[in-house]
Amino acid sequence: MDKRSGIIERYRKFLPVSEQTPVVTLLEGDTPLIASRSLGSELGIDLYFKYEGLNPTCSFKDRGMTMAISKAKEEDAIAVICASTGNTAASAAAYAARGGLRCIVVIPEGKIAVGKLAQSLVHGATVVEVDKNFDQALKIVLELTEKHPITLVNSINAYRLEGQKTAAFEICDDLGDAPDYLVIPVGNAGNISAYWMGFSEYKKDGLSSKSPKLIGFQAAGAAPIVVGHPIEAPETVATAIRIGNPVRWEQANDAAKESGGYIDLVTDREILDAYEMLASKEGIFAEPASAASIAGLRKSIQEGKITGGSRVVCVLTGHGLKDPTTTRLIKNKVLQSEATSEALEKIIF
Ligand SMILES: *Cc1c(COP(=O)(O)O)cnc(C)c1O
Repeated sequence: MDKRSGIIERYRKFLPVSEQTPVVTLLEGDTPLIASRSLGSELGIDLYFKYEGLNPTCSFKDRGMTMAISKAKEEDAIAVICASTGNTAASAAAYAARGGLRCIVVIPEGKIAVGKLAQSLVHGATVVEVDKNFDQALKIVLELTEKHPITLVNSINAYRLEGQKTAAFEICDDLGDAPDYLVIPVGNAGNISAYWMGFSEYKKDGLSSKSPKLIGFQAAGAAPIVVGHPIEAPETVATAIRIGNPVRWEQANDAAKESGGYIDLVTDREILDAYEMLASKEGIFAEPASAASIAGLRKSIQEGKITGGSRVVCVLTGHGLKDPTTTRLIKNKVLQSEATSEALEKIIF
């Protein structure tokens, strides 16, 4: 397809939509698969970045939201609601505005990146902060949707995963086949589950010859799947994956296992190093949660779990500008100079 159309038009035959579905789109998807310039050769692999930060609201959530909001409209919903660590809220707010629906977002206390909050507010959502973490916010939102005719657009909503699986289609379309490995951050574990759906469907339809091994990464302070029990008070610099009790826990575990891959964890230090490296060496600014995939890739290579020469795709889930505050944690700083060319010369050379 040579013209931008949004994921529903582009992959209509793979999605649960009909001629009656009012398509609410901001022309999401069709994001670039960027070949690595430095890290891939350093690690001895054929590496690509799926840069999902270039979606309309700057995260992959838009793929799921075009589906969730279109179906909500088809089902005559008047309002949608979500609990969110930020990106689901930003995306829901934008697509609800586009579709003429009311949007309510419930956010955990104090841990939302400033860009994501700004997006939710400017798109006109009713934004409510609660003095609890994401998992508890989701619980009260669920209770509310049982009492009122409001559509839940968290990734419990099956249409979200249907939309998100299209990223796997795009990767196969761009590469001409599935890669050997897909490395991806894991929070609520919806996205890794969606990628597995996508790769499996493409293979079943003969559009790819294989499916990749999926390797997912949680942050060390929020790694319930890895440690095997819910985390009461999850903590990580990667706020988008600061989740203690993932909604798609079982499905994600099954997806990783079935693919021949696994789910592991990376520390905040490893995430921040990867975050800075990606921006300064590859020229790609992704948010900290996205960098978990890069940190995880390095770890997998060190541990010999990815074979040399493999074709690997790292998913960069969201744009770095969403969370400018985190750049305070990198090494590079603004230098001060007197306003003379001599003083400037001294500093530069
Ligand atoms: C939502 C999100 C994730 C985690 O995706 P899940 O489907 O919850 O596992 C990772 N990175 C970013 C930037 C996100 O917004």
